[in-house]
Amino acid sequence: MMKEYTIGIDIGGTNTAFGFVTKTGEVFLDGSITTRGYKNAEHFVEILSNTLKENIKIYSNDHKLKGIGIGAPNGNYYSGCVEFAPNLEWEGIVNLVDLMKKHIDLPVFLTNDANAGAIGEMLFGGAKGMNDFIYITLGTGVGSGIVSNGKLVYGHDGFAGEIGHTFAVTDGRDCGCGRKGCLETYTSATGIVRTALEFLEKDKRQSELRMYDPAEITSKLIYDAAVKGDKTALEIFDYTAMILGRSLADAVAYTSPEAIFLFGGLAKAKEFMLHPVKQYMEKYILNIYKNKVKILPSELKEGQAAVIGAAAFIWNEI
Ligand SMILES: [Zn+2]
Repeated sequence: MMKEYTIGIDIGGTNTAFGFVTKTGEVFLDGSITTRGYKNAEHFVEILSNTLKENIKIYSNDHKLKGIGIGAPNGNYYSGCVEFAPNLEWEGIVNLVDLMKKHIDLPVFLTNDANAGAIGEMLFGGAKGMNDFIYITLGTGVGSGIVSNGKLVYGHDGFAGEIGHTFAVTDGRDCGCGRKGCLETYTSATGIVRTALEFLEKDKRQSELRMYDPAEITSKLIYDAAVKGDKTALEIFDYTAMILGRSLADAVAYTSPEAIFLFGGLAKAKEFMLHPVKQYMEKYILNIYKNKVKILPSELKEGQAAVIGAAAFIWNEI
């Protein structure tokens, strides 16, 4: 009996991770290569597919590869192209799907990493059986994937669901996208650090966070201080939760989700993030949605989510 599997690939700014994944979400092989230092995107894909082919061969006796799912920043599902990704070395528009198919002649699909995560949550995580939910990653940036009526929403041009780049604060912080006040600049891991630096600057209270050089402060340090009851750290979390809860209250109005899944280090801070985000969302939400939308932690494993998501994504396509 041949076991069927797909390959999930997660292209990050520094590393590209891959996993061989069964239909039930079991990763039976994983690995990674560096994303940086190639002549061009063609060269990167050649090295990546050679690595994959060596491993495909090892399992070829009793395993059958069905396709490859790729999650990448600014990955466009419709065109198969990565378009002007800010964290990658490739310039302009790169047709990753065509490049990959030159080496491995099987179905290949591309989407952005948060969309892949949403499909992973639906097939293998906490969103099993749900038709309407929103998946949010709170990492270096804020990504999101929206599932509506059982389908991932791509929109007219393939870039639907950038909740991280909706306005959270009028004329707020500068965002990498060129606008001001995007949600990402407040509720990502880097956003909460920006909040910490602002709060430490404007009030002069004693805080554990003052023991550190401002450049050393991380979301983890803020979390550790909050656990010890540090007032400034607690206020930093409360402010972050308020901003996120308020934006989610708005997001609910578009697709009326059953649940919103939060993924990433910050989402694990249940007492400081998940619970207050829910409270703030309920405070700001339209009456007809009150007490109907769950805020849940993602059930995907931190290190595997993007790869499993990309693999799930191809299962969803073929
Ligand atoms: Zn932005």
